[in-house]
Amino acid sequence: MSGPGIAARLEAQAIRLSDPSCPFCRGLGIVFDPQGSGKARGGFLLCQCLEKKVRAKDPPYEYFDEERGLMAACPARPARLAIERIETLTRAAHIPPRFQGNYLEAALAQADKDGDETTLMALDNAIETVKSAAGGTPYGLFIYGPPGAGKTHLACIVINEIIRLYRKTSLFAKVHRDVIARVKSTFNQNSDAYGQARTIEEELAKVPVLVLDDLGIKETTPFENQLLYDIIDSRYDYDRLTIITSNDSIDAFKEVAQGRVTSRLRQMCREVHLEAEDHRLKHAL
Ligand SMILES: [Zn+2]
Repeated sequence: MSGPGIAARLEAQAIRLSDPSCPFCRGLGIVFDPQGSGKARGGFLLCQCLEKKVRAKDPPYEYFDEERGLMAACPARPARLAIERIETLTRAAHIPPRFQGNYLEAALAQADKDGDETTLMALDNAIETVKSAAGGTPYGLFIYGPPGAGKTHLACIVINEIIRLYRKTSLFAKVHRDVIARVKSTFNQNSDAYGQARTIEEELAKVPVLVLDDLGIKETTPFENQLLYDIIDSRYDYDRLTIITSNDSIDAFKEVAQGRVTSRLRQMCREVHLEAEDHRLKHAL
């Protein structure tokens, strides 16, 4: 289930900045190099199909066209700007550093090699989520399973792919730290964020792609449940793509907010199960 077929399926609607017949970038104009760009987690480079056409190496990537007698954009300019945009979006998304530079192709190849059917099925759904970020009705993901199953890793792979292929603004938020604690801090008069609860809720409701990491049913108060429900409900109304990780299945939320959370999540997300990590078998996530 890996190889060129996956790239074609995944990249069908990706932004293309070069010749689609290039065997290295398939027209994306950029390639991810795990050792690349002098960055610890790897980085994007111009594909060799553009590298040979470069006319200006520095911003604003323009050169003097002798024939036409005017300044012109270097053919590699859009791809260079794309790399800058990917780096900016990745920083703004707050993806944990250890999950940056992780992409579907490597995870698929590994799961395939391991014969890990559960993970392959989860990755298959992840491809549909990535594709849906191109437009239309979002295909959300609800990833559940025990601690150590690779849920956060999978969620981050999906954001990395969406940023790589479509350059969409995304946000990774841990439910307790980045949602509940952040909103509650706005009630404190000594906080810089005093009175900003609505602004924070709006941001979480409207950001095009959101990961809510570690959504739990235990130890949450009615206020916290309502806050989380309101964010999820608004995202449904705005047709925003939402990826949730949890130790519990969607059904486990039946008792929360009179069952409204469960029914909303069922409408927005495909439920994906990951099993406990077995180091002898599983390396993909
Ligand atoms: Zn190329």
